[in-house]
Amino acid sequence: NADQAMFRAKESGRNNYQLYTHAMNQSALHRLSLENRLCKAAENEELIIYYQPQVSLELGRVVGVEALLRWRHPEEGLLPPSKFIPLAEETGLIVPIGYWLLRKACSQNQEWFKMGLPPLRLGINLSAHQFKQQGFINSLRDILAETELDPSSLDLELTESIVMEDVDENIDKMRQLRDMGINLSIDDFGTGYSSLSYLKCLPINVLKIHQSFVRDITTNPNDFAIAMSIITLAHSLNLKVIAEGVETMEQMELLRSSGCDEMQGYLFNKPIPPEELEIVVNNNNCFWESA
Ligand code: C2E
Ligand code: MG
Ligand code: MG
Ligand code: MG
Repeated sequence: NADQAMFRAKESGRNNYQLYTHAMNQSALHRLSLENRLCKAAENEELIIYYQPQVSLELGRVVGVEALLRWRHPEEGLLPPSKFIPLAEETGLIVPIGYWLLRKACSQNQEWFKMGLPPLRLGINLSAHQFKQQGFINSLRDILAETELDPSSLDLELTESIVMEDVDENIDKMRQLRDMGINLSIDDFGTGYSSLSYLKCLPINVLKIHQSFVRDITTNPNDFAIAMSIITLAHSLNLKVIAEGVETMEQMELLRSSGCDEMQGYLFNKPIPPEELEIVVNNNNCFWESA
């Protein structure tokens, strides 16, 4: 494609040709320098983990957190996952980064528990690469042993596309994880292509409703219908439902009255550094209770 672009640029004149190659070199260089930096980002302590609370309205408290990766790039500032996870996936760097994050988040969670915070379920996003790794289950076992985290505190988030690729093999793997006592969620549910006939045999605990269905839930009847159907479907399969991207009281009320078990979103908290999370959980401001 780069060749085609260059060819087209060449046809349309020498100056354009130079312009295109310059622009392409710039972006290739940028990518290369990001890649080089990303290699050492963890050891340079540039990778940090933010935690976003997940609240149970019924219990009136934070019951879990989702670990979300950030890269504090020395020149480009705090980068969200969309700016570097795709590169990490392409280069395979996501595998060591993923293990680093698992180890760090598990020991952070165990630390919170020792500090006397109520037990918090820890949600971790898995990449396809990491889940596919031959030694994934053993490495995970090692990390749990090392950090002494109770496996039932861990909640691994998989997307439909990860699960549906080699679904039979994956169900096997998922079953092993469930046997270890680990929880499994389907992230961004409704945006992928999992078939209902597989859904009934997936050894999972939770469906997470993608934020695109939550965003217009109070104004768009179709989004409302979809969100309600996911809640009903989940409950009839004995699964819990977590809604993502809850930003307003109206969305919260609608989801609450529809039986959604847990919620996560800016209405409650943005993803925050661990020190802030401790304060939020300790204060447990149940502002939503009085709503
Ligand atoms: P996700 O797992 O679906 O995470 C939820 C995303 O929604 C997060 O974006 C979070 O900041 C954002 N969010 C939460 N509440 C709200 C809200 O009320 N409004 C809006 N507009 N957004 C909200 P983030 O942190 O940028 O992460 C994006 C994606 O990157 C994640 O989507 C996940 O797929 C991926 N990701 C993040 N951390 C990791 C990681 O450690 N490993 C892997 N493999 N992927 C990760
Ligand atoms: Mg997630
Ligand atoms: Mg995701
Ligand atoms: Mg999601």
